[in-house]
Amino acid sequence: MGSAGALPWERKQAHAQQTQEQQNLLLKARAHGIAVSEKAPDVSLADACTEFLEEIRQQRTAKTIAQYTTALDYFQASCPRVNLHAIDRQHLMRFMVFLAEQKHLAPRTIWTKVAIVVQMLKANGITNLLKRRDWPRFVEKVPQAYIAEELRRFFAACDQRERVLFEFFLGTGLREKEVQYATWKDIDFQENTARVTAKARWGFIPKTWEEREVLIPDHLVESLRCHKAAANPDCPWIFPSANGCVSYHFLSECKRIAWRAKLNCGTCHTKQGHCHRGPYCANWFLHKFRATYATNQLRAGTDIRTLQVWMGHKDLASTMRYLKAGYGKDLLAKVNEAFALVTRHEGQGSQEGNTSADAASVLPPSDQSGASFPP
Ligand SMILES: [Zn+2]
Repeated sequence: MGSAGALPWERKQAHAQQTQEQQNLLLKARAHGIAVSEKAPDVSLADACTEFLEEIRQQRTAKTIAQYTTALDYFQASCPRVNLHAIDRQHLMRFMVFLAEQKHLAPRTIWTKVAIVVQMLKANGITNLLKRRDWPRFVEKVPQAYIAEELRRFFAACDQRERVLFEFFLGTGLREKEVQYATWKDIDFQENTARVTAKARWGFIPKTWEEREVLIPDHLVESLRCHKAAANPDCPWIFPSANGCVSYHFLSECKRIAWRAKLNCGTCHTKQGHCHRGPYCANWFLHKFRATYATNQLRAGTDIRTLQVWMGHKDLASTMRYLKAGYGKDLLAKVNEAFALVTRHEGQGSQEGNTSADAASVLPPSDQSGASFPP
């Protein structure tokens, strides 16, 4: 394929490689005693950011572009009028302080913004400025998963179409966008698989630029078969909007079902309103189905590498997060049972007694994680 037909990221990659090769040449020349000018190419940070955003614009969603733009704007604000090749570790460290003190951002958000800047620098052949310990530390939140009883009530409140839709979310672990763009062609009814494929025509590209395939349970295949029989044969989408287009209403559907099923927590307050007044509960969201899928897979003994592929995670660490969410009512029952023996023996004669919650809280973390999954 000629360079004219190359995708933007391929060009970028070629550019980074070229920069790297130039640096290697420079080093080699110096090693042979050849005098070479130290002067780096004169590129302003502003130009480099603009060019990088131009590339991003061609491959990412509007939301991502906005996120990248903000991060790079902030970076330029923290070190104005600087030459790209003059940027060093100090600039990045100052950027972090700027984000914390001027923008009042949390460590998690600072981490993301720094990662975007590092990505821009890498695209320009500038790497390894930050040491591992330089990165902001933050507490990784445990992903939330639905418990079986919640799901039972949720599905009981679904109509036929809603039931298939959310069985699909739960049975494939696909991201919201991946479900929006899922077509009948992506389902293999013989092999029990759903594929996540690029739909360039519609501007859909899988998140990590990789297509993938997941195994789906029999009951979901059956539900999809019925759903297909009733579907418009001219519509490519599995879950289209009422007028046959890509649907953008899955989240509000999810919240409406939870409201109907009386599953709102009753205490949270979201932008849309108080959750005891309508379908606004913050505990009901689409990604939670994906987290529940991951948790269920791990608890069923699916090995983490396989799950990483199914989830479409670029790194194993993302998949590992779901190990933490593996606690449910059945595990709690086991913990209670184990400690009931202890409390029965020790608690004899004691009026106070230990509650199971107290007992669980003294369980060392390593025991908790070790107990939940087969090796
Ligand atoms: Zn709520």
